[in-house]
Amino acid sequence: MARKPGTLKQLRDSGYNVASVKEEMRRNLIKKIRRGEELFPGIVGYEESVIPQLENAILSGQDVIFLGERGQAKSRLIRALVSLLDDEVPSVAGCEINDNPFRPICRSCRDRLAEEGDAVKIAWLPPDQRYGEKLATPDITIADLIGEVDPIRVAEGRYLSDELTIHYGLIPRTNRGIFCINELPDLAERIQVGLFNIMEERDVQIRGYRIRMPLDVYLVATANPEDYTNRGRIVTPLKDRYGAQIRTHYPRRVEHEIDIMEQERHRFDDVEHEVSVPQYMKEVVAEITRLARRSPDVNQRSGVSVRASIADYESLLANALRRAIRLNEKMVVPRVSDLPYVIPAISGKVEFETVEDGKEEQILEKLIQGAVLAVFNRHFNVVELEEVVTRFKGGLSVEVSDVLPSAAYVKMARTIPGLQRAVAKVCPEGSPALVASAVELILEGLHLNKRLNKDKVGGRIQFRG
Ligand SMILES: [Zn+2]
Repeated sequence: MARKPGTLKQLRDSGYNVASVKEEMRRNLIKKIRRGEELFPGIVGYEESVIPQLENAILSGQDVIFLGERGQAKSRLIRALVSLLDDEVPSVAGCEINDNPFRPICRSCRDRLAEEGDAVKIAWLPPDQRYGEKLATPDITIADLIGEVDPIRVAEGRYLSDELTIHYGLIPRTNRGIFCINELPDLAERIQVGLFNIMEERDVQIRGYRIRMPLDVYLVATANPEDYTNRGRIVTPLKDRYGAQIRTHYPRRVEHEIDIMEQERHRFDDVEHEVSVPQYMKEVVAEITRLARRSPDVNQRSGVSVRASIADYESLLANALRRAIRLNEKMVVPRVSDLPYVIPAISGKVEFETVEDGKEEQILEKLIQGAVLAVFNRHFNVVELEEVVTRFKGGLSVEVSDVLPSAAYVKMARTIPGLQRAVAKVCPEGSPALVASAVELILEGLHLNKRLNKDKVGGRIQFRG
């Protein structure tokens, strides 16, 4: 390959065409669509909703605002947009605001161009230098986002509109790139007006000086839908500027929630244990989150992130591993009696409507029970377990716990009529740890369907007729 142009002259001679950031993203998107490339790897469940809308926004050169509750992969989507930027683009070397060498906007580059002409040096910018993001808070100032006039330089007698007196903020520093403002409605109204002016009018008032800054930025924002629709939270002209409002959502299908859990959970490779998670236990974890998203006791404005499922899943597996190590079992298989250990994980991930002391744990326990019941009923019909129930009605009682060896469950399955067959339904392979997990699901499911009684004595759980 020919050497990259290092001066303005070489760049011009190479015939290089500088595109606007929107043209560049559009061009690269079209290429990727043609090649059938996966545009947003690792993003699950948005194939038919968010992604086509986002692609359309890029194709039409529209700035985007994502509306959604927390934990809906908004940041991940936005960062993935960086993959639509060219591998490198030329800029005036040393420029603070990534100036286009053919048409620099900062004063310093324009002066250099006038002095050095075609000898001006070119730097090549990688995509990560063309991305910026900021969490909006009420104390963010125009200086942070756009820039500040240096009062000392003004006092030195510089001409008032002389941009040499400007200290550039975050957005100019992302010139010719993508800039994301998270939680846009939290920005003070005055700052929103400044933002609009810089994007639309291409000039801005800083300390009373009107400064021209024709930036080229792809602007993305996120907002909670409720804040966004609240009148007065976003100034109308800024709202109008966003060409596309895209509503994100939580996984619509349990399988998507599970795929994300599996994909995102923290993995270690320091243990020799084999981890095997029955499908129904994954479903239980996903279902806990899904029930929390509908619970009147949980603040639905903040939502319940997929991160709750991931953290619950990790805690569940941790407790199962702890048991396997203690009992010297080779296989790690989570059980229903491991579920209370997800409470510390989910507690930090939901906001409760009520703040009565101690009530939170009760609410979470109810969600867990609801999840187990729903999943049990998906896999079993209580009628097919009548034989098991009859045995308990006849005086049988069994004890289970999260530290009971798997072999004890294998014995139960073998001796309680009908239980073995039920176990085989969800656990065709039948290693002891898997049998243990299945037995617990069945006993708890029968209890939640009011077919068995259950007593808790310390850490042990007793089922009886
Ligand atoms: Zn410059």
